Amino acid sequence: ATSRVINFGAGPSALPQPVLKKAAQGLLNFNDTGIGIAELSHRSKEFVAFLSNAESHIRTQLEVPPTHSILFTQGGGTAQFSAVVLNLLSRHRLLFPDLADDERTMDYVLTGSWGKKAFDEAKRLGGARARVAVDARKYSKDNVSFDNVPLHGEYAFSRAPALIYYCENETIDGVQFSPDPTAPTSFPFALLPRERGGLLPLVGDHSSSFMSRPIPHLGEHAVIFAGAQKNVGPAGLTILIVRQDCLVDVDAAAKLGAIPVPLCLSYTTLAQSKSLHNTPSMLSIYITGLVLEYMKELGGIAYYEALNRRKAEKVYAAIRAGEEVGVFQGKVQSGSGSWMNIVFNILGDGAEARFLAGAEKAGMKGLKGHRSVGGIRVSLYNAVTEANADILVQFMEKFVSEAN
Ligand code: PMP
Repeated sequence: ATSRVINFGAGPSALPQPVLKKAAQGLLNFNDTGIGIAELSHRSKEFVAFLSNAESHIRTQLEVPPTHSILFTQGGGTAQFSAVVLNLLSRHRLLFPDLADDERTMDYVLTGSWGKKAFDEAKRLGGARARVAVDARKYSKDNVSFDNVPLHGEYAFSRAPALIYYCENETIDGVQFSPDPTAPTSFPFALLPRERGGLLPLVGDHSSSFMSRPIPHLGEHAVIFAGAQKNVGPAGLTILIVRQDCLVDVDAAAKLGAIPVPLCLSYTTLAQSKSLHNTPSMLSIYITGLVLEYMKELGGIAYYEALNRRKAEKVYAAIRAGEEVGVFQGKVQSGSGSWMNIVFNILGDGAEARFLAGAEKAGMKGLKGHRSVGGIRVSLYNAVTEANADILVQFMEKFVSEAN
């Protein structure tokens, strides 16, 4: 068999090798039950204990406050594009029963392709009530690409929205909010319209940056969701962090005219059943639990934040060096570049194909940009080591020197 290569894929993506070895054991015999994880009852005491342990890993490592529930579900980020709309429109209906339907707005911050997909789903389900708080394409170099986080002055929120939506890291476009709250490209938390009592109906898609660094203002979010298949596990598991005032009686809301919520998408149902309303994706939960344990051993979020910053800085530096001699061209405006997905073009006829072929020969895969935007995309999720990133950087430097 071919040996393992360095995987810079955008997701599903690299997982830590020690975890995969342990998981292979669990496939045969999970925690000394004598039964493999794919063969075991999801209601067995061993699995229920494992699930609860995985939840505490997220709670302690990310510092999730007791105001928020951590829930496990399926359907990916895509199912959450629908679920956030249905759950938060129900909540809004119960909070403000007398508002006219066209006052139940949903404000979408568009900084990339995934936020746009979520917005399109909100329009399908909520019609004209879905509106754009800011569209970053307006501030792009070419007027059509997502290549930046807009400045705070460009956002316009409605007065009492049912939800305010953003995608923290745009996996395809390589755009991410700055973790530095004083940076002009940070998320504008201070500008958001608050409800009575000071709450925010804030929803963040953290699919491709989850557990890679701390989440700013985590406790102020109504809902944070993340598909597991980038930093923490295989596809099939979606992790939710939901503020408890968002666990509403969706059937009571429907009686008042809200769109009925399918039970498998209802946050209340998930919370009341402790994420066991129906059979969960046990294998994904198992591997994710092992990854979380491994993360803790290495030093948790603080360790990964420092590591991920260093990896990204090295790759951006290599892109800049290639830009100076006309070999590379970064795609994202300064201050808006993602730590997780770094996108750039290789200039010259046939040069991109040469870069990809050379990388593959040197044992690196997954560097081709998303089919909708082309170019190169380097994904540097938690399991990509600094040594892995160094090998890529050396390859990039060699490519630049040979092109000149
Ligand atoms: N949001 C983001 C930021 C993503 O990167 C992705 C998938 N790459 C999704 C949502 C959709 O996730 P899924 O395929 O799990 O539905």
